[in-house]
Amino acid sequence: MIATEPAGAAVSRRPSEQDWDAAVAAVRTGLRPGARVLLVCHVNPDGDALGSMLGFAQGLRQLGVESLQCTFPGPLTVPAPLHMPAMDLLVPESEADPAPDLLVTFDAASEGRLGSLVDRLETAEASVVLDHHASNTGFGKVSLVDPYAAATSVVAAELLRRLGVTLDRGIAECLYIALVTDTGSFKFDLTTPEVHELAARLVATGIGVGEISRRIFDNRPFGAIRLFGEVLGRAELDPAAAGGRGLVIAVATLDDLAKHEQPPYVLEALIDSVRCTAEADVALLLKQVAPAEWAVSMRSKGGADVSLIAVALGGGGHRLAAGFTGRGTAAEVISAVRERLAEQD
Ligand code: AMP
Ligand code: MN
Ligand code: MN
Repeated sequence: MIATEPAGAAVSRRPSEQDWDAAVAAVRTGLRPGARVLLVCHVNPDGDALGSMLGFAQGLRQLGVESLQCTFPGPLTVPAPLHMPAMDLLVPESEADPAPDLLVTFDAASEGRLGSLVDRLETAEASVVLDHHASNTGFGKVSLVDPYAAATSVVAAELLRRLGVTLDRGIAECLYIALVTDTGSFKFDLTTPEVHELAARLVATGIGVGEISRRIFDNRPFGAIRLFGEVLGRAELDPAAAGGRGLVIAVATLDDLAKHEQPPYVLEALIDSVRCTAEADVALLLKQVAPAEWAVSMRSKGGADVSLIAVALGGGGHRLAAGFTGRGTAAEVISAVRERLAEQD
């Protein structure tokens, strides 16, 4: 079901049958006896990146792949709420095969999101890029990018189906975590009938949806509750911005994290509280990662295309949810966003 075309999209069409065939053929390179397969997802992985990768990995195992590594750039730490099956397949990037027979990337919209693992796109015999970002830059020998898919796991599930994989509980838990996180628990606009059909097939394997939901979404240390309160207490609303549709801005600093003794990952959920602001179409959250570096999250309710702003500032994402790495002071990063936002009026 195609609604409006993603505005400003680098990728604006769904994969064709030829694209699917090319992806199936490339994956078969990794099914040869003795073949070595490397799966990579984007830096600082979220539920969709990890879940689609680890779900796909279990599908490849079912098809007989023995030499199988999963990795992502940066420290090999996975926040407790995102623990899921098949994490034993994770290896640090330093141990990743330098020249695998097959490389598959997950949820990475640009080569930069693969960090130093990007060279495997050259050294791998076959490679497939699985993604759903309209901002995808079209890298990789075989690119399977569906900008209308609610999550990369939707693309991964279809590729597994075409490869003849039967969904089991382990695969389903990973793909479900990916789907439920990227759709905001089936609330966002790309939650199509197909998404619910996939969810039904995943749930039918017997996964515990209540337990998964509590673990991922309703599970925050008390320190994080107080941290959220403090950051939200400082949030600012500019009703005149975004063409009069309103902009809400919140800033979480390293000092906030230190004061409440919280790890940075707890801030991933904070944008969901900021974006609820009724008076604002656009929500902007700056999460400090170093003195002059910020992980920036943006959300729109439809009036603005935040992926355009993110791409212009070196990041990526979707029309209604996007991000980038901001440099300088918080005020400088906020001004850069405001300027780009004003260009959309
Ligand atoms: P987040 O706000 O971190 O939940 O991210 C929202 C969307 O923006 C996701 O689809 C991310 O893949 C994308 N995104 C966030 N940060 C970046 C970045 N630094 N570079 C590219 N895409 C990003
Ligand atoms: Mn992601
Ligand atoms: Mn995703």
